[in-house]
Amino acid sequence: MRYLVLSDIHANLEALDAVLGAAGAYDAVLVLGDLVGYGADPNAVIERIRGLRVAAIVRGNHDKAAAGLDPADDFNDVAREAVVWTAAALSAENHTWLAALPRGPRPVDDSIEICHGTPFDEDAYVFEYGDALGAITAAERPLCLYGHTHVPAAFRMSAHAGAGASLSLEYVGSSTDGLCTLAMDPQSRYLVNCGAGGQPRDGNPDAAYGIVDAPAGSVALRRVPYDVALAQAKIRAAGLPPVLAQRLAVGR
Ligand code: ZN
Repeated sequence: MRYLVLSDIHANLEALDAVLGAAGAYDAVLVLGDLVGYGADPNAVIERIRGLRVAAIVRGNHDKAAAGLDPADDFNDVAREAVVWTAAALSAENHTWLAALPRGPRPVDDSIEICHGTPFDEDAYVFEYGDALGAITAAERPLCLYGHTHVPAAFRMSAHAGAGASLSLEYVGSSTDGLCTLAMDPQSRYLVNCGAGGQPRDGNPDAAYGIVDAPAGSVALRRVPYDVALAQAKIRAAGLPPVLAQRLAVGR
């Protein structure tokens, strides 16, 4: 199976469509949450995702907040304003669909699982080595895909668990090319963030996505440019906070 990995689309239809156009052949899609929030096209993004062959999907913190499942107390003012806007913009059908998204982690098959934040807490962030160690230890399958930070990253843990366990940094996608193919060693465990489709935060404005080739044991982290100006114009026209448009141009 060849999976297209989508995370943190954040109602950015231009970014999603660019990814779908660039992804090439795949069998099914893995969706790691935060379909909505920040961007101006929550309904169109949900409807695109609903039209795909989805092998596994989990909700993100913005999905929960927009669906009214979380009060968004820990959101900053801009994020909360976007949640209020999104909740009002969602159609009744898409609101119901969003509210029913499952909590992560969710299995894809015997060797792959997905989560939004971490396998032990759907809302926790993997920013540092210690976060990654906690997440990769909690994962129940050799490849755990996560999102939430909007920063591509890959961690590998050697098979020799216990006192001699080592967590080595295989790749961190903070470079601006954002391209990487990780050939997975069957004796190791992996924790991989393929980046954010709709609001990258690693300094590269291009939409990020991943391709997991299950039989080949590889994960490709990829980028594709999209019509940032159009996404920005829609955000401004919607009356969303202007900073949400500005940040798309710089990938922050
Ligand atoms: Zn997000």
